[in-house]
Parts: sequence; structure tokens; C-alpha cells
Amino acid sequence: MVSIIGAGPAGSYTAYFLAKRGYEVTVYEAGNKIGHPIQCSGVVTPAIEDVLKVKKEVIVNRIKKIRFFSPNNQSFEVNIKPDYVYDRGELDRYIAGLAEKEGVKFKLNHRFESYENSNNSMKLKFANSKIINTDILIGADGPYSKVAQCAGLFNNRKFITGLQARCKTKIEDKSRVDIFLGYGEFGWSIPEDEYCARIGVVSEKNPQNDFKRLILNLKAETINYQSGMIPLYNSQVKTQKDNVYLIGDAATMVKAATHGSILYCLITAELLAKAIHEKKDYESLWRKEIGLDLWLNLKIRNTLCKFSDKDYNKLTEYFSQDKLKSVLSTNVRDFPSKFILQLLIKEPRLLRFFPKVL
Ligand SMILES: Cc1cc2nc3c(=O)[nH]c(=O)nc-3n(C[C@H](O)[C@H](O)[C@H](O)COP(=O)(O)OP(=O)(O)OC[C@H]3O[C@@H](n4cnc5c(N)ncnc54)[C@H](O)[C@@H]3O)c2cc1C
Repeated sequence: MVSIIGAGPAGSYTAYFLAKRGYEVTVYEAGNKIGHPIQCSGVVTPAIEDVLKVKKEVIVNRIKKIRFFSPNNQSFEVNIKPDYVYDRGELDRYIAGLAEKEGVKFKLNHRFESYENSNNSMKLKFANSKIINTDILIGADGPYSKVAQCAGLFNNRKFITGLQARCKTKIEDKSRVDIFLGYGEFGWSIPEDEYCARIGVVSEKNPQNDFKRLILNLKAETINYQSGMIPLYNSQVKTQKDNVYLIGDAATMVKAATHGSILYCLITAELLAKAIHEKKDYESLWRKEIGLDLWLNLKIRNTLCKFSDKDYNKLTEYFSQDKLKSVLSTNVRDFPSKFILQLLIKEPRLLRFFPKVL
């Protein structure tokens, strides 16, 4: 018997893979509706096609270009292999539907509170006073994972605020995302269609202020908020203790440079099911697959956090060159280990930022 806490992409897709392997799986979700509230921009690179095929109702828009703005308002545009903009609520319900077809049970309004070991199994306690016995417990319960806390796996993890709203705004080209450097870690405007964009910032120190500045700059009108906390990847966080496992945001498996993790959640879901079924070491499996890229992302993010406006302006100047744009156009940004060296070879002046890496 496997109990999974949290019906986000990490929890439901792990449930799907385990059920396919013959396990009896129940997913416990605190909310009363899967995929609600939305706390995400829903952007995923085409790398997802190797991991999950979604139905077309999940797709809101396709993005073919990214335009970057430096603090001094210089910009450069990069063509990309088209990204998907998903309806995040629909995505979560779609994955849960796949799991349900394999026999997974979903229990809504079940907020996990704690567990205790009893003989060879565990007793799970929920806020609605239910007590459930389980053999395996998986924490897919997001950034503040109660499972991680109860298992002593929370460590001293850090969080960044992602402040986003759907807005009415002027959209010149709905196939282009704008990224604004100099607003917190960065700001974005992601079109849903010709009239509405998901506008937001990730910011550690002053999210409200950075968000207000961006909204004012874009003359946007807020429709509704979709904000949330994002854990910073922490390589010290252990993701397994006996029969308790962590995945997704609960395990801090988030790419720190872009703060996205849907793809990594889905990749790791299959690895976790494999580890349980084949009695393999889960930590080694996922670290081999995404560990280096998680680490590189953190290095890139920590370096960018030390940038002044002048550094960002210089970076924008370098990336305006076709030789660097072509590297970004032909690679997906989920795996910087595959192209970071190409960037440095094509533009050795990028090494001027190296002291900030240290
Ligand atoms: C503003 C913002 C924009 C983002 N944009 C992107 C993006 O464009 N692309 C991308 O890839 N990623 C993006 N992310 C990150 C992405 O949303 C998360 O990394 C992703 O949702 C992680 O999935 P998960 O399944 O691990 O956790 P979640 O999606 O957080 O799911 C956890 C589930 O657990 C439930 N839960 C929590 N506690 C309990 C409990 N005690 N008991 C029972 N259930 C519980 C929650 O209700 C929730 O349903 C963004 C994040 C933010 C905040």
C-alpha cells in the first residue's frame, strides 16, 4: 500500500507509474479540487514531449520567441524550439486522470498532519481526524512539505516569492515571452492570447515592490493573482528515509535559474516508481539524471543575484550576438550542462563574470 501526499504533477505522475507497476496507491490532497488554486505560469519546454503527451485542451498558447530586456531597456530576441503555455489546473487534472485510469484512488479534503512508525508500517494522521495505515509514504506536498518536516528531511531550505497575476495588457505578439532583468531576480510577461498575459516576478527581497514596478511599466490591469512560494534547490536535502520519499517541490528539485520544475517533477516520478519497484537507490537515480543540472542552475542563479544593472546590460550586449543566440535557439534551457560550455567557447568574455561565481 502506497500513500502519496499531494495531487500536483509530482504526486499524481508518481501514482500513475506505481499503479502501472501493480501497486495499490492512494493520493491524499488537502484541497477540495485538484489543480486549484493555480500558483504557476505553466510554461514548459518541448522537452516535455519525451515524458508526457498532454491532450490539446491543456495547451493555452505556444511560444516561439523570448525577448530579454536589460535594465537600461536594451533588448534582444531569441527564437526557440516552441515552448508550451499550459492551463496549469487542467494539466494537474489531466495527470490525475491518467493515474485514476490505472486504478489510483484520490482523496480530496485530506490534509496530512503527521505520521508515526508502527511495527513494519506507518500510521498517517490527517486534519479531518482520519488515521490510515501505509507501507510507503511519498511527500509530493509542495514547498512546505509536512512529510519532509515530519521525517526530519526539511533542513534549512530557503524560499523565493513568485508573484504573478493574469493581466489585461497590450500584446504585440502572442508567440513571444518578454523577460525583464532588474526586477527582483527577473520579471516576465507570458501571453495567453492577444489580450491577456501572465505577468510576474521572482524576488527574494522585495516582491511586492518589484511586481508593482513591472505592472506600472507594462500599463497592465490585474485580473487575478496566481502567486506562490518557490523552494531553492538544496543539495543537502535528503529525499529518502526508510520508506518515506520526497519528490518535486517537497524535495526542492526546482531549477533555480528559471524557478520552473514541472518537467523535473515528471522525470523524477518515473525514477521514484522504478526505485521502489526495483529496490534501487532513489537518491542515486534522480541525482544521476538531473543532479548536475540542478546544481548548475543554482550556480547560475547565485551568480546572477550578484549582478549590478551594469552587469546585466553587459550580459544583454553579449547575448545580442547571433553566435550566442544560435546556442540558445538550438538547446532547451532545462539542461544547461548540455550547452554552457558552447556559450563560453563562443563568447570567452562571459568569463569576466567568473569571480561572481565563486
Ligand atoms: C508564480 C510561479 C510561477 C511558476 N511558473 C512555472 C513555470 O512556468 N513552469 C514550471 O515548470 N514551473 C513553474 N513554477 C513552479 C511549479 O509550479 C512547481 O515547481 C510545481 O507545481 C511543483 O509541483 P509539485 O507536484 O511538486 O507540487 P505542487 O504543485 O505544489 O503540489 C503539491 C500539492 O500538495 C498539496 N498539499 C500540500 N500540503 C499538503 C498536506 N499537508 N496534505 C495534503 N496535501 C497537501 C497541495 O494542495 C498541492 O495540491 C512556478 C511557481 C510559481 C510560484
